[in-house]
Amino acid sequence: MDTSPIRLLIHGASGRMGQALLRLAAEQPAVYQTVAAVTRRAPAQRVVDGVPHFAASELAGVPDFDVAIDFSLPEGFDPVLALCTDRGRALVSGTTGISTVQQEALAAASVRIPLVWATNFSLGVAVLADVVERVASALPGWDVDIVESHHVHKKDAPSGTALTLGQAAGSAGAQVHYASLRAGDIVGEHTVQFAGLGERIELTHRATHRDVFARGALHVARVLSGRPPGAYHVRDLLD
Ligand code: NAD
Repeated sequence: MDTSPIRLLIHGASGRMGQALLRLAAEQPAVYQTVAAVTRRAPAQRVVDGVPHFAASELAGVPDFDVAIDFSLPEGFDPVLALCTDRGRALVSGTTGISTVQQEALAAASVRIPLVWATNFSLGVAVLADVVERVASALPGWDVDIVESHHVHKKDAPSGTALTLGQAAGSAGAQVHYASLRAGDIVGEHTVQFAGLGERIELTHRATHRDVFARGALHVARVLSGRPPGAYHVRDLLD
């Protein structure tokens, strides 16, 4: 059995998620080795804490890696997907707000490489999506509304997680409405409200620290490495 650390490329490394990924990966050197950190602009320092840094324009020249973990923005998504496909390497992406065309490219790439794209890497949300689908199918005709709150820097709305929860309810036939709040430093809160005549159910998930997503993504990267090509779900890999 190969016990060498998994070689990671962190894409979006200067961002809030990227910084959490770099820190948490460095805490487990026997498991993870970050061989490249990629940011949009040219980095001020080429090597930080032993990790080589690259600009997005230098992506083609990064050293070999086992798994790319991408938490960037939709405009950064295509190049990292192309890199993983060209090199036959796994991709874990949490970038939200990607287009339908990008979703299709992801599906096409899954024939060649193992990959996970998820709007939320917490186990709690994976389970919540399951519960939402069951409640929606048990209560046809009820109004379903999703209210999500995030920090003021978040660009996309509704959040990718809200859309994932909405799809879960939608697959049971519900028409879902969304409301988005952007305030302060909220890491991520989602409430799915089911309203009938004279009664209501509210299901809420609160992420209190973004490390939960980074830990989930690192775990998924470890499990995904060495798997056959395919599009995997967080839930299947966190079990
Ligand atoms: P951020 O704005 O703090 O960081 C974005 C990072 O992407 C930066 O490092 C930036 O340099 C990089 N970037 C931007 N454009 C790029 C490009 N063209 N090429 C390469 N890199 C580029 O954002 P954040 O809060 O760290 O979130 C990043 C992404 O992750 C967002 O899409 C966010 O919605 C998503 N997110 C997902 C989850 C999840 O669990 N799936 C959790 C939190 C955030």
